[in-house]
Amino acid sequence: MTAPPLASGPQGPGALRPLLDTVLDALREGAETRGGPLPSGGPEAVAAMVRDALGEPLPVDGEPDALHRLVRALAAGTADPADPLCAAHLHTPPLAVAAAADLAVSVLNPSLDSWDQAPAASALETLVTRALAAEAGAADALVTTGGTESNQLALLLARETHPGVRLVCGANAHHSLVRAAWLLGLPEPVVVPTPAGTLDPAALDDALTHIPGPLLVAATAGTTDAGLIDPLPAIADLCRTHGARLHIDAAYGGGLLLSDRHRPRLDGLARAHTITLDLHKLGWQPVAAGLLAVRDTADLAALDHRADYLNADDDTEAGLPDLLGRSLRTTRRPDILKTAVTLKTLGRTGLGRLVDQVCALAQEFAATVEAHPRFELHDRPTISTVLFRPAGAPDAAVAAVRRRLLHDGRAVIGRAVLDGRLWLKATLLNPHTRPGDLTALLNLVDLASLAEGHAPT
Ligand SMILES: *Cc1c(COP(=O)(O)O)cnc(C)c1O
Repeated sequence: MTAPPLASGPQGPGALRPLLDTVLDALREGAETRGGPLPSGGPEAVAAMVRDALGEPLPVDGEPDALHRLVRALAAGTADPADPLCAAHLHTPPLAVAAAADLAVSVLNPSLDSWDQAPAASALETLVTRALAAEAGAADALVTTGGTESNQLALLLARETHPGVRLVCGANAHHSLVRAAWLLGLPEPVVVPTPAGTLDPAALDDALTHIPGPLLVAATAGTTDAGLIDPLPAIADLCRTHGARLHIDAAYGGGLLLSDRHRPRLDGLARAHTITLDLHKLGWQPVAAGLLAVRDTADLAALDHRADYLNADDDTEAGLPDLLGRSLRTTRRPDILKTAVTLKTLGRTGLGRLVDQVCALAQEFAATVEAHPRFELHDRPTISTVLFRPAGAPDAAVAAVRRRLLHDGRAVIGRAVLDGRLWLKATLLNPHTRPGDLTALLNLVDLASLAEGHAPT
């Protein structure tokens, strides 16, 4: 019995081609079985389908059809962000060209913990991260697994440059910031109430005046719940006045940098010491595609680290790039390849058009909601998130409507509490969605709302 074929090397392409056909066939069959944005029947039905497809997870003898069977099951049971009615989260439908590039990474398996495991990938990462950092007005950027890791690193760099630093953020900030403060053993964060949805400069000024430093202010450019952008220039001014460090979490809104039209909304971004970016949101990348941009490269010295087998001093002195200080991870996949391919393939024009499209779609959907007699709109969208609810429905009915649509496999929409009320959330990231799809979504919500016994008021 010979060993199974490898993905790379001389046999790689020949072995992979038929397997890719198998994967593509199974994806299509699974999508046909599903027939909608997510599987119907809820968690129990999906778990039973997966249990059935999997059988014994580690059989004594191998089963050659496992690839087909499990990929088909995954597709049949997935929530597919490429379906216009799957619009709950910052869960992006990835571009085909990015997924194709990612396959090359799986095949070659470079690892960015040392140059001898990733000669070209490390050079590519250097070039592309610098370019992306420059877009955000920063000097350099680290590649991360997403906004959560970027926020953690931002707090770590702040702690290392300002020992004892305390986080000050709005109640609208992403939950990962407060968690990162806990992880890093920082003092209890100061959470400034944000009744209007964004960080109010007067309230921040008050906090910065009364709380002893050193302080790290975290502002948000694109809140997860509503896509709102904090007043960045005013916040940057306050940080300068009070000597506080500034982090801007632009995991969602950072994508606006790609659009000439929407970019000015991020004015002030470049004044941050650190910036979280996340191209697996408004960047159409497969997970993971996070970045932490830094204004001052000296801050990165905190991550310097030695492991003799990876970056011995004499290797570094002899000119082998030292990669270990670019992450807290050791083995690290070159997630930059799919991003590099996407940037080059679409260009600024192509990517900017995608951003403009989803933002325009959100405006159109908001107008449809506003004109509908049985719906209430929270507000005109800032980016591509629309919050709405059946007019007059109690919160429990709003929550039940969302779960009914999930259970029936008809639509995936999110939920958010704003102004003390529960709203349904459509996060629009799919540039192929047409206004008619969203009218259909509204009709589904309307029907589900009636089915939940909510008589329109
Ligand atoms: C999504 C999000 C994050 C977390 O990013 P992950 O990629 O999910 O780790 C952080 N901040 C904001 C504002 C986000 O929307």
